[in-house]
Amino acid sequence: MKSVLKLMAGVAVIVSLHSVAQAKDLVVGVSWSNFQEERWKTDEAAIKAALEASGDKYISADAQSSAAKQLTDIESLIAQGANALIVLAQDSDAIGPAIEKAAAEGIPVVGYDRLIENPAAFYITFDNKEVGRMQAREVFKVKPEGNYVFIKGNSADPNADFLFSGQMEVLKEAIDGGKIKNVGEAYTDGWKPEIAQKNMEQFLTANDNKVDAVVASNDGTAGGAIAALDAQGLAGSVPVSGQDADKAALNRVALGTQTVSVWKDSRELGKRAAEIAAELAGGKKMEEIEGVTTFEGGPKGVAMQSVFLAPLPITQDNLNVVIDAGWISKEEACQGV
Ligand code: BGC
Repeated sequence: MKSVLKLMAGVAVIVSLHSVAQAKDLVVGVSWSNFQEERWKTDEAAIKAALEASGDKYISADAQSSAAKQLTDIESLIAQGANALIVLAQDSDAIGPAIEKAAAEGIPVVGYDRLIENPAAFYITFDNKEVGRMQAREVFKVKPEGNYVFIKGNSADPNADFLFSGQMEVLKEAIDGGKIKNVGEAYTDGWKPEIAQKNMEQFLTANDNKVDAVVASNDGTAGGAIAALDAQGLAGSVPVSGQDADKAALNRVALGTQTVSVWKDSRELGKRAAEIAAELAGGKKMEEIEGVTTFEGGPKGVAMQSVFLAPLPITQDNLNVVIDAGWISKEEACQGV
């Protein structure tokens, strides 16, 4: 009898372990717009690591910059059994039908880094308007007057306008007072560095090279703008902003050809997104997510349940922060200095 009881107890333990394993065995599908910028591989590694740690499964698709492919990618992630989706949207409007489909099937969606303005999606990002303010502030410190050029992001990415509005907020007074003149402003199709370079070349030509400052919206476009400045012998004398703390950009900060990059620790963003996706799939309500706030600042003013992480500007004065955080080695950051 004793042994039977023991055996029964053993069976009971096995059964309960099994049900715990099942509850953890979620499939999280991540739809990437592309991997053009260095940061996205860091984001991906963080999401993967967090899901591995919680015993959940990572599946993914790369839309290779195609808004149309991203729609079929998401269908395929759903068909593969995704219990939750994390979506880095290529085009915030075009993504709509995929979000509706997921919502109709009861699959939670986390809009990753870029706003998907549909209340069925959760929104996790860094404060993009603040990133824009940081970019403008650092450039303005170096050049409080003169001819300014704005190298904006991809127009289908709501971050492009959030960044620009933050930049304008900082510079408005100087623009209105006539100290700063906006002598060129263009979106950068697909955030492509070569398009940023071409736009910068045109602004230089149109202004007889009289450009005093460049507010570029990320490190990739900053690299393009700096290449155009360099061709005119102006790299290093014209302040340029960026964001993402790309390795090449941090090296340019150390060398003095880029004034600021804004560091957004995407290791943290990826981890939080994975946790939130798993929590929502497990039945937690959006309102119950830790640190949640309501954001209504999108183009349509839709109330979105959101989590915002804090960005940090990196200049020559605090390069040690990213080195100490293990984001980049001192050798990589300071190469050639
Ligand atoms: C992100 C930036 C990134 C850019 C291009 C934006 O939405 O916030 O970090 O550089 O997309 O991928």
